[in-house]
Amino acid sequence: MTMILADPLFAPDLPEPEHWERHYPPRELPAGAKVTRLGPSPTGFVHIGGIYTAMVDQDVAHRSGGRYLVRIEDTDQAREVEGAIEQFASAFRYFGLAPDEEEGRGDYGPYRQSRRAAIYQSFARELLREGKAYLCFATVDELARSRRAQENAHVPTGYYGRWAIWRDATDEQVRAKLAEGAPYVVRFRSPGVPGRRVEFTDAIRGALEADDNYNDVVLLKSGNSSERLPTYHFAHAVDDHLMRVNLVIRGEEWLPSVPMHLQLFAALGFEPPGYAHIALLMKPIPGGKRKLSKRKDPEASVDFYIDAGYPASAVLYYLRGLANGSLAELPLPEALAAPIKLTDLGGAGPLIDQVKLEDISADYIATMTGEQILAALRTWAAGHDPQVAAVLDAEPDLALAALAVERDGVANPRKDLRKWSDFRTAYGFFFAPLFTLVRPGDPQLGNLPAELVRAFASDFVDGYQDLADPGEWFGQIRELATKHGFAASAKEYKQAPDAYPGSIREASQLIRVALTGSTRSPDLASVARVLGPAEVIRRVCALTA
Ligand code: GLU
Repeated sequence: MTMILADPLFAPDLPEPEHWERHYPPRELPAGAKVTRLGPSPTGFVHIGGIYTAMVDQDVAHRSGGRYLVRIEDTDQAREVEGAIEQFASAFRYFGLAPDEEEGRGDYGPYRQSRRAAIYQSFARELLREGKAYLCFATVDELARSRRAQENAHVPTGYYGRWAIWRDATDEQVRAKLAEGAPYVVRFRSPGVPGRRVEFTDAIRGALEADDNYNDVVLLKSGNSSERLPTYHFAHAVDDHLMRVNLVIRGEEWLPSVPMHLQLFAALGFEPPGYAHIALLMKPIPGGKRKLSKRKDPEASVDFYIDAGYPASAVLYYLRGLANGSLAELPLPEALAAPIKLTDLGGAGPLIDQVKLEDISADYIATMTGEQILAALRTWAAGHDPQVAAVLDAEPDLALAALAVERDGVANPRKDLRKWSDFRTAYGFFFAPLFTLVRPGDPQLGNLPAELVRAFASDFVDGYQDLADPGEWFGQIRELATKHGFAASAKEYKQAPDAYPGSIREASQLIRVALTGSTRSPDLASVARVLGPAEVIRRVCALTA
C-alpha cells in the first residue's frame, strides 16, 4: 500500500516512529539487567497465577539490577470489569509486589494501553507504508464462512493463503471500499510459509522449535481512526520494545504465538526480547490435574487469600517453593531472600496444595510475637471483619493476653491461626461481644443431667478463686467433681460407667464449654486468668439459669 493511500487514514499530526524512539530512549542499566513486566488485563480479578508471575518478574528484575513494571492491557474495552485496576494495585501491594513503574509513575508511560493509541498507530502506518501490513475489509460473515470452509476442509483456520482475500487487493479495490466508508482492520502481511519451522530460546524451557506463523493476524482493530486500538500481539511488540523490556515473562498459553511475535519484531525493525513462558498453576483432581480455573476454583482468585487473611509472606514462601522446588526446602526467611532461578521453574505446571499452604501459614504465624500478630490482625480486620476490628481496638491488652496463651515463652507455640480469619473462631470467645453465653441444654454439654449441671456450676461460682497456679486453679474443678460424684479419672469411669455421671474429664468440659463455647480450647486455667474472675463467673453463671 502506498503512502498516498496509507497516510490519510491517520491523523495528520500523528508522530513518526522516530518520535517515539526518542521519547522512550534505551534505559541506562548495568549490563545484564533485566527489564520485566506484567501485563494484566482488567477483564476480571487477579488470578493467583498473576501474583506468581509478578513475583518472578520482580525477583528477576531486581536481582539483575533491572526494573519491573506493570502495564494495564486494556485494549479489549468491551470486556473490562469495573474496579479491576484498583484491585490489581491493592493485590500487588498486599504481596509487596508493587512495581517500579506503573501508570502515573515512570518514564515509559502511559502504562495503560488504551492511552497509547497514537503510538500503535504510528507504527501501523509505517507498516502499511512499507507494505508489511494491509487493510482488510472482510466482514464478520465472510470470516465465519471461511472458517467453516477451513474446518470442513480440515485445514488450519486463519487468514492466510487463498483465504486472505484482502492480502493482494489492488489500490483501486481498497479505494472503492474506503470511499464506501466500509469498516476495516489492519492486518499483518506475514512473511511465514506453511511448513517452515522456527527455532528460539525460552529462558525457562531452553531451545525450542515450532511451526512458523503464516497467519495474517490483525494488528489494529476496527474503529474510528484516532481510537483504533491494537490487538494483544501488536501491542506486545510495540510496548515491550518502547518500554525497553528485554525479558518477557508470561503464561505458557502464549508460547505458540512466539513465532508470530518474532515476525512482528522483525517487521518493525526491533530487536526481540528474551522470552520465559511460565507453566500454569494446576489443581489436583482425581486421576490427574487441571488448570486452576477462575470460574470453578475460589482459590484461583487473589481475593481468596487476601479476604481469608493469609499472611503475604506465607503465600510468597509457598509460591516460591512452587517456582523452585529447592526453595521449599529452605526456612522461610532464607527462601524469601534466595533468588528464583528461571531455569529451575520447569515446563510442567506445579500443583496448588491448599493444605500445604495452610501448614506453611500456621508455621509462619507461630514464629510471630503476639504484638506482631495483633498488628497484622488489626490491619486485616479493618478491611474484612469490622466486629473483630472493633474488639481489637477496644481491648488490645485482652487480645495480647489471649494470644499469649500457649504462645509466649513456650517451645511449641499454638498453631491455631493459619490465616487471620481464623482469629474469630479460635480467639473470638475471649471477647464478650463475640461470645454467646452457653445455656443449660446446649448440646456441647453432653448428656449430663440438667440438675447436675446447674448444681455444679452454682458451686463453682460460689467458691471461685482466680488462682495463678494452673494446678491450683484446676484443683477447684477437681474438688467439685469429687463432691458431685464424678470419677477421679477417665479410667475409673470407664471401669464402672454406671457408677458415675462422668469423670473429671466431663466435669472440666462443663467449665470449658461455659467459658469458651467449645469442647476444645487452649489451656483452661490460662483462659480463665485472661478472662478474669468477673467474666468467668458471668459465663459459668449462665449455666445455673
Ligand atoms: N494481557 C495478557 C494476559 O493477560 C498479558 C500476557 C503477557 O504477559 O504478555 O494474558
